[in-house]
Amino acid sequence: MKEKIYQPSDIQIDSPLNGSSKGTVTIIGAGVIGLNCAYYLQKQGYGVTVIERDNITNGCSFGNMGYFSPSHFIPLASPGIIAEGIRFMLRSSSPFYIKPRVSRPLMEWAFHFWKNSNASAVAQSAPHLNDILQLSRHLINEIRDEIGNTFFMEENGCLMMCRQQKSLDHEIRLADAAEKFGLQTERLNKQQAQSLEPDVELNITGAVLYKDDCHINPGKFMLALKDYLEKRGVRFQLNTTVIGFEKNANKISAIITDKEKLKCDQVVIATGSWLPVLARMMGLKLLLQPGKGYSYTYKQVEKNIRYPAILKEGRCAVTPWANQLRIGGTMELSGINETILPKRMKGIYESVKQFYPNLQIELPPSEKIWHGLRPVTPDGLPYIGRTKKFENVILAGGHAMIGVSLAPATGKLVTEIISKENTSVDIKAYNVERF
Ligand SMILES: Cc1cc2nc3c(=O)[nH]c(=O)nc-3n(C[C@H](O)[C@H](O)[C@H](O)COP(=O)(O)OP(=O)(O)OC[C@H]3O[C@@H](n4cnc5c(N)ncnc54)[C@H](O)[C@@H]3O)c2cc1C
Repeated sequence: MKEKIYQPSDIQIDSPLNGSSKGTVTIIGAGVIGLNCAYYLQKQGYGVTVIERDNITNGCSFGNMGYFSPSHFIPLASPGIIAEGIRFMLRSSSPFYIKPRVSRPLMEWAFHFWKNSNASAVAQSAPHLNDILQLSRHLINEIRDEIGNTFFMEENGCLMMCRQQKSLDHEIRLADAAEKFGLQTERLNKQQAQSLEPDVELNITGAVLYKDDCHINPGKFMLALKDYLEKRGVRFQLNTTVIGFEKNANKISAIITDKEKLKCDQVVIATGSWLPVLARMMGLKLLLQPGKGYSYTYKQVEKNIRYPAILKEGRCAVTPWANQLRIGGTMELSGINETILPKRMKGIYESVKQFYPNLQIELPPSEKIWHGLRPVTPDGLPYIGRTKKFENVILAGGHAMIGVSLAPATGKLVTEIISKENTSVDIKAYNVERF
């Protein structure tokens, strides 16, 4: 490796908004979390460098469903999930799958996931999720107003659609809890839900509309942010992989990449499902598993749906952008791998057809199926905060199914931590060393 050493001050100090007296921050990982951290840090006057292994054109932050969902205040680890998981695992096209394998990190993760899958753990986590979700929902409006809505943000809300009365009853109980958190919901019978979707037939018992939810096109959001940040002087080092760190007492003094060594002040690690890999390089242990999901985007649907919706019994989701339609879902805990199992997408497609029987869509071709690895923590709360071991390192990740929803709030919180300000919400629950 040819060793070239950059100083933090190498970053574009000629830019009026960069390299300022505030100091410099290096962000590792340019997913939606890394870019939102960059957004708030540059806004606050920090000089920001983002190091990314790829080139910000694909990855988990691109092909997801694009929901900003205050409605998702119940963590994945919740009562009934284990039994449901075991039941689903017996079906080859199931939405939830754990690949059986001997893996100590998986065993430890599964133990803590199991420990958190009960009513009292959920009652503890839900207010923290609610706080950060609502903060983020507020911030995305500000971001849209500042950078422009080139990412198709629509504030229609999101439907939770149920085919069975039992699921609907459960959703209605959740809606009651949501209202206690200050969310606006509307309980809809089949006819009321159908009136929202005049162009497609709904095969459901009823639905709950979460009015505060909104949706965006996540790929366009990523590109809009990157473009905006570049114009504001944020420096991107793409196609550059971090392979190690140089440590000096209780600080990370340099980041070693496959191209060069980069001196650093503050470091934010936002590498999604690869957070444990980077943590290990620093001698830290982090419980996190990649949860693979799939999606497919139809470019032109004649009579399209109008509302994003979660199809409860199918455990999958649909998102429209005018004539485009994305369908997606599944949670496959099979480690870091890029294998696509088309039968899982077939399961998603069949669920969508059950809920919308006359929707004019075909089974997605295998070679066009998108997949992404969600970074899943055992308790459904993200990791946001400093490590005890290194005083200049902040971890930001583990947002599982709500990384887009939580990205602006995470960026803001990281910036407040670095600036030593009071944080907008209490961050104790996101402690990176809680397991
Ligand atoms: C099917 C599906 C649907 C989803 N729908 C939604 C939704 O509707 N709403 C929502 O809020 N969330 C949704 N999510 C979840 C959301 O997509 C993720 O939580 C989010 O994208 C995670 O972002 P991240 O920045 O933490 O990770 P990533 O997007 O994975 O970014 C991490 C980056 O770090 C880089 N990296 C890793 N290692 C290194 C290294 N050594 N050196 C340099 N760079 C490195 C990677 O290349 C990557 O670009 C969905 C996910 C899936 C799979």
